[in-house]
Amino acid sequence: MSDRDSDRARPGTRVPDAVRGPDADPVPDTAAPSASAAHAAREAVLAPFDTRIADLVALYEDLHRHPELGFQETRTAAEAARRLTGGGYDVTTGIAGTGVTGVLRNGPGPVVLLRADMDALPVTERTGLDYASTVPGRMHACGHDVHVTCLLGAADLLAAGRAHWSGTLVVLFQPAEEVGSGARAMLDAGLYSERLVPVPDVVLAQHVAPFGAGLIAYCSGAAMAAADSLEITFHGTGGHGSRPETTVDPILMAASFVQRVQSVVAREVASREQVVITVGSFKAGDSANVIPDRAVVRLSVRSFDESVRSRVLAAVDRIARAEADASGADRAPETEILDSFPVTYNDPLTLRKVNESFTELFGRQRLFAYDPASGSEDAGLLATAADAPLYYWWLGGWDPQEFHTALAAGRLAQDIPSNHSPRFAPVVRPTLTMGVQALATAALNRLEAPDIA
Ligand SMILES: [Zn+2]
Ligand SMILES: [Zn+2]
Repeated sequence: MSDRDSDRARPGTRVPDAVRGPDADPVPDTAAPSASAAHAAREAVLAPFDTRIADLVALYEDLHRHPELGFQETRTAAEAARRLTGGGYDVTTGIAGTGVTGVLRNGPGPVVLLRADMDALPVTERTGLDYASTVPGRMHACGHDVHVTCLLGAADLLAAGRAHWSGTLVVLFQPAEEVGSGARAMLDAGLYSERLVPVPDVVLAQHVAPFGAGLIAYCSGAAMAAADSLEITFHGTGGHGSRPETTVDPILMAASFVQRVQSVVAREVASREQVVITVGSFKAGDSANVIPDRAVVRLSVRSFDESVRSRVLAAVDRIARAEADASGADRAPETEILDSFPVTYNDPLTLRKVNESFTELFGRQRLFAYDPASGSEDAGLLATAADAPLYYWWLGGWDPQEFHTALAAGRLAQDIPSNHSPRFAPVVRPTLTMGVQALATAALNRLEAPDIA
């Protein structure tokens, strides 16, 4: 998830029973026995997991030691490509620089895309872990190393168990999620248009978050906000502070914009249409008695619906232009889009179907619903570009006992570091166990049974 949103991914602020309850049962490394063919196929695919977990833990710790920033994930990408090639995948590397895909064509059926992001953050690690970052000022503080490890684990199980499903599996390792441009860059590099991979029928992804490991959280429909960061430059006419009548003051112009732009939230969107506008930067002038010739404002706009989003962005632009006009500026303001994340929309039917498999495998007590989060994510672009449904769920990553202790003491915010914290330290197990099994199970749910006629 994006770096401006370190606190929002905590589906425990309204604490559900599943989180509150005793997390007594250890997460099984293999599925419980069951009767149906789908159950049998899942059990067969997941059965080798016990023999893989030690290698996955070593992989995770290695990735954690070697974090790489967005579009620089060369080491991570090379390891992903090496493992996928060994698993029999048709591998493409270097998509948008460091993006990697693996394709496994395995008979008729749907194309299922599983996605992981690879990038780390410019954070100095303070976890004290013995596998902490060895790169100064760099850290996997958002858990993308968990995502890479889990996807490689699932890709391995699904390849080894290919006799138990039919269809085409695409696994995708994306650069630069934190800056919101990795998914877009892979699409622009021809991911679908140049058929680097088959266009998927469904996109599945997960994100580790600071609630109890062993749990999965989900949100049907709009799950995460669209986020647009804009820079608006207001042009005035500078001059001496003693003679404002000879100037067009860009500070007054931009200050009026900052005030009035909040009226979009208060007066142009309905109360049910959640929108947040935040002006986070205002820069103009250097001196007390000089009126500068420009002012630069940076703001972020968050929304949960594409039509609301476009209406609000149009209103922001309208107000900027109107304030320039009102001030008598002879040059219109300029707007630059700094970054842009789509609404993350979970397809309700896909979510319900996959959750049926999660419930069968993990038990109902390990799943809980949460409210839409104001944070943002670019995985949805991979789905909308394919006109395919998306399901993106949250994977609990914190030590359950520590989480429950903090919860009971009312100290979640103080004691459980959120994503992007220098103390963010997912517990290795059962997080990896749940993450690998969830991805493989979700894929099997969307693939078909093999034709055994
Ligand atoms: Zn993230
Ligand atoms: Zn993040």
